[in-house]
Order: sequence, then C-alpha cells, then structure tokens
Amino acid sequence: MAYDFDLFVIGAGSGGVRAARFAAGFGAKVAVAESRYLGGTCVNVGCVPKKLLVYGAHVADELEQAAGYGWTLEEGHFDWGTLIANKNREIERLNGIYRNLLVNSGVTLVQGHARIAGPNEVEVEGQRYSAEHILIATGGWPQVPDIPGKELAITSNEAFYLKDLPRRVLVVGGGYIAVEFAGIFQGLGAATTLLYRGDLFLRGFDGSVRTHLKEELEKRGLDLQFNADIQRIDKLEDGSLKATLKDGRELVADCIFYATGRRPMLDNLGLENTGVELDDKGYVRVDDQYQTTAPSILAIGDVIGRVQLTPVALAEGMAVARRLFKPEQYRPVDYQNIPTAVFSQPPIGTVGLTEEQAVEQGYEIKVFESRFRAMKLTLTDIQEKTLMKLVVDAKTDKVLGCHMVGPDAGEIIQGLGIALKAGATKQQFDETIGVHPTAAEEFVTLRTVTR
Ligand code: FAD
Ligand code: NDP
Repeated sequence: MAYDFDLFVIGAGSGGVRAARFAAGFGAKVAVAESRYLGGTCVNVGCVPKKLLVYGAHVADELEQAAGYGWTLEEGHFDWGTLIANKNREIERLNGIYRNLLVNSGVTLVQGHARIAGPNEVEVEGQRYSAEHILIATGGWPQVPDIPGKELAITSNEAFYLKDLPRRVLVVGGGYIAVEFAGIFQGLGAATTLLYRGDLFLRGFDGSVRTHLKEELEKRGLDLQFNADIQRIDKLEDGSLKATLKDGRELVADCIFYATGRRPMLDNLGLENTGVELDDKGYVRVDDQYQTTAPSILAIGDVIGRVQLTPVALAEGMAVARRLFKPEQYRPVDYQNIPTAVFSQPPIGTVGLTEEQAVEQGYEIKVFESRFRAMKLTLTDIQEKTLMKLVVDAKTDKVLGCHMVGPDAGEIIQGLGIALKAGATKQQFDETIGVHPTAAEEFVTLRTVTR
C-alpha cells in the first residue's frame, strides 16, 4: 500500500525534530506535526530560556565579586521586562532556525494538534495523513498535585512569561526545576523559599552533592524548608497568596511556583485508536528499539519516561531514524554514564554512579572528596566552597562516578563523561596532566582517600 509518508512524527521537540531531519536525510518521506512551538520544551520553555535566566541571575554574583578586583560600580538595577523581552527574541530566532532545519531537509511541516486515527493514520485539523510509521515524540507537561487553590500556582511554563519578577516566591519541589528556579528567582532579587516534602532535596543525586548544595544555598540566604508541603493555597485581599502547610504553618508570597515533576503529554492523542499500551507510570511502553506495542508506532523522548533530558531525546531520535531508514548505521543508545548538570547557583555536574548507588550495587569503593574555595573568590569576601568527588572501584581502579558542585560544573563534567565512557581508571586520572590554574585540575590531583 502506498502511504502519504514513510514516517509521520508527532511533536517537533528535541527528539521529533532530530528523528524527522535524519530520516529525511536518509531519503525517507517525512512529515512532522507541531501544535505549539518549534523546538519543543527545550527551546521554548525548558533548557534554553532557563539557561538564559540562570545567566541573568549569575550576573549578581559577578557584581558582588567585582569590588575585590578593584571595580567600583554604581548601584545596579535589574529589569525583568528587559531580560524576558531579550529572551523571547532569542527564542523566536531559534524557532526560525528549527523551521529552516526541517524545511531544508525536506520535511513537510504540518501545523496543528495531531491525533492518531488508526495504526497508519494521523489527523491534523481535519486533514488525514497516512504513514507507514508513526513516531510519538510529544514530550511532557508540568504536573501539580491536586490541592485546593492549585490554579493559583504557576509552573515553569508560566514562569518564563511572568510580567514582573515577584517580590516573594515559594518554590515547591526538590528536583532539577525547583532547584534551578529557586536560584533564578533568588539571584534576581526575589525573597525565595524552597519547600520540599522530604528530608533533603535532589533525591537520587550523590549524598555529598545534596548536602553540599544545601549548605551553599543556605549561605546565599535561600530559605530551604524540608519536610514541608502545601495543603492549600488561598488568595488574600491584597492579591498575595497564602500557602497553608500540612503542619499548619502559613506562608505568604506573591508567587507559588510548582516544580513537582512532569507527566507524559498524551492529551487527545487518539491512543484509543491504536494498540499502544502505557507502562505502570502512564508513559508510553516501548521496547529497547522504541517500538510501542502497536507494530507501526514508535515513541521516544520524555513521553517514554526514561531519562528526561534533551541530549537523550536527540540520541533516541537518531536511533529511530537509523533503525528505520539506515539500519546498517543503527547503534543502540547507551544509557550508562549520562553526564548531567543542574544549573543551580552554584551548579552541579555529575556523571556515573553516586556513592550510594555504588555501595548498593555491591562495589567495594574508594571515595576521593575535596572541598575548596575557588581561586576566583580569594580576592573577595565570598566564602563559597566547591565540591569535587570521585567514586572509584577499589578492585579494578575504574572511576565509577564524578560529582561536582561549583562554578562551571556543567562545562567540566562533559569531558569527564568521555573519560567514564572510555572506562578510565583512577590511575589514568592521576597520570593526566592538570590545566593550571583551574578548579577542574582538582579532578586529576585527588590523592587522598576520604573514605
Ligand atoms: P518536547 O521537547 O517536549 O517536544 C514535544 C513537542 O510535541 C512539543 O513541541 C509539543 O508542543 C508537541 N506536541 C505534543 N502533543 C502534540 C500533538 N498531539 N500534536 C502535535 N504536537 C504535539 N534537559 C536538558 O538536557 N538540559 C536542561 O537544562 C533542561 N532544562 C529543562 C528546563 C525545564 C524548565 C524543563 C521543563 C525541561 C528541561 N529539560 C532539560 C528537559 C528537556 O526539555 C526535555 O527532556 C526535552 O525537551 C524532551 O524532548 P522531547 O522531544 O521528548 O519533547
Ligand atoms: P523531578 O522529577 O526532577 O523532581 C520532582 C520533584 O517534585 C521531586 O523533588 C519530587 O519529590 C517532588 N514531588 C513530586 N510529586 C510531588 C507532590 N505531589 N508533592 C510535593 N512534591 C512532589 O522533576 P522536575 O519537574 O524538577 O523536572 C522534570 C525533569 O526535567 C527532570 O527530572 C529532568 O529530567 C528534566 N530537567 C532537566 C534539567 C537539566 O538537565 N538541567 C533541568 C530541568 C528539568 P521526591 O523526590 O520526594 O519524589
């Protein structure tokens, strides 16, 4: 049977665009449908605008450090409207680049909400398209717990478009987004409180990283409240918001920002017309080649709920394009040792096993840990400490994990990701000549076993 397309991709986000472009490059006839914004979450309401706001907040640090280097500055003034307008202009530029990338690679762009009408059929705005393969790359959406007054709260989606910087912010959650946005709001001048329901935020990260970041954020004046959760939100007469906590305490703020995880975006996708099954957490169930339980339908990215990071969605998109249209070049995605950064202030960089995971997996380990004041701060009064840590297999000498909290952690951890992928040993770290004077050189000069 002749289909309109070899591949119909639903969602022009990180994974969908990558799959569509590469499939078209391999000679396939490809369409991609997008209902909101080209580039998806990452470009529009995720990684990119977030990092721009992080840079904005970081300027405050640079200004604070300036005096130690002899600079006298007039009192600074920050204008949220300018930052948001400039950020929006950059996002529009990127939307245009994504459009060109798709069109120039021969992909048909279909604007509108796509609904799967059958195993080989997709409907967009009343128009039906047939395709041999359908790829679900619809991403995720913020999830807010069902409490009275939840409609008064915002999520990351809205935060990027706030008219004004709120004076007082409550951030709820203890994952990537909560920690990053707490740093953004606080860095830009809002009185910020982070509420997390457990004992210590960033569950799943290395224990030293979690406690170190907690201490550094507290030094910066961020109000961290653990074992705290909101029971209800009410609007007060003056327009501010009152959060009543489960322990009965009441907190008042101008903005309550929820970052309590993301759900797969499956709204009105027509999955009932297919044999696509969901897993027990509600994500699309796929095998190790991204094949759903319906033979003609695949899924990648946040909607399959594996690792919700852009570079992972990109790798999965590439794997699907190759598997379908260039099988001789197919390589499975390697989910081991994925480096990642949390763009908190200071940021976290991490790759490989945490100390806790290594112990849990039965490794006999050596831990090398160092805390130091970065050279850049020595001419300032700032007492921030950088943390660097290596988790090493005592038997084989292989480095199992590298963890850092400190300036440029994301930049530094990328190279260590390559070292771990190559299976580097601690001895090879030790034999690597440092770059001096940098903070990063500490990773090759950690000599004393801490534990
Ligand atoms: P998405 O990028 O979400 O794309 C899905 C697309 O599908 C969207 O454009 C959506 O409009 C469209 N769509 C959905 N349903 C339909 C439909 N029925 N019809 C047509 N179109 C549809 N990751 C990092 O690696 N680094 C970071 O620093 C980082 N920061 C983040 C910050 C925030 C605030 C958030 C929310 C996420 C961040 N992420 C980060 C995660 C990253 O954005 C996601 O992992 C990535 O975007 C997932 O790509 P995807 O292709 O699966 O989905
Ligand atoms: P995460 O899953 O990282 O964190 C969710 C947080 O919310 C956890 O602390 C969780 O607590 C808490 N939580 C969940 N449900 C509730 C509830 N009902 N009440 C109170 N607290 C709750 O999600 P995020 O929203 O922060 O981010 C989504 C994903 O996007 C990330 O996991 C990451 O993959 C990606 N991302 C990546 C970034 C990067 O690479 N720098 C930046 C931003 C996002 P608990 O731990 O107790 O379950």
